[in-house]
Amino acid sequence: LRRIVSARTARRGPAAPRARKRARASARSCPAKIGDQLDALEAFYGRQKASWPTEPFRFLVWWQCGYPPSEVACEKGWRALSAMAKIEPAALLALNARKFGRALAMGGLVPELRVGRIRDVAGMVAKIPGADLAKRLKALSLPEARKLLKRYPGIAGPGADRIILFGGLSPLAAVPSNAPQVLLRMQAGEVPASYSACYRDAQAIVAGGTPETLAARKRTYLLVKHHGETLCKRSRPACASCPIERSCAFASRAAVM
Ligand code: SF4
Repeated sequence: LRRIVSARTARRGPAAPRARKRARASARSCPAKIGDQLDALEAFYGRQKASWPTEPFRFLVWWQCGYPPSEVACEKGWRALSAMAKIEPAALLALNARKFGRALAMGGLVPELRVGRIRDVAGMVAKIPGADLAKRLKALSLPEARKLLKRYPGIAGPGADRIILFGGLSPLAAVPSNAPQVLLRMQAGEVPASYSACYRDAQAIVAGGTPETLAARKRTYLLVKHHGETLCKRSRPACASCPIERSCAFASRAAVM
């Protein structure tokens, strides 16, 4: 058998490199269902948990606790602030400016600017009946809730969606603001140049491919976020180390180029 195979190969000659690449690519199952890809990511990274406060008012404060913005920086400022005052509108509005600034300096640069922003957040929430932002949001329609959240400092569409999803208000298809490229690569194979198109298309992938439940949408968000921060980074994805390389549309396209 080996002699026959060798003779056939000798007659045909070596396959052209491009044809071999194509053959390898077509052997992949591409693109897989997003659910299967998420299962593979979870098997690889483990179950993910939100590392930020999920109650809307507390999230808005936490979001201003670090700069440049990162979860590590926000967590440092948040811990220092929580040790100094209750995270409630009245307590934050009454906090001494110097103490406030010292706490936020633990989270990085421009602490005075962030003190001002947290005071703005606290002032806005203090005007809501019962100073209860979560309750107010629950009483609104989804578009109204998004609109209200976008009035707070530093909150754009993706931030509003994150608050709504993790605050348990609606299982909307939120996508991490720093990782919409992950979903586009996994399922479509290419990433639009415009950020807003990329975010919108990523939302459509989540909406069409995952169950409309809080648990499923949170799990998707967390896995995509973690993958985008570790292997599938915006500038250069590390496909060779990726657990879903064989089913990824982007990796399949790259293989035939
Ligand atoms: S194979 Fe590459 S592009 Fe595809 S998900 Fe993995 S890291 Fe991202």
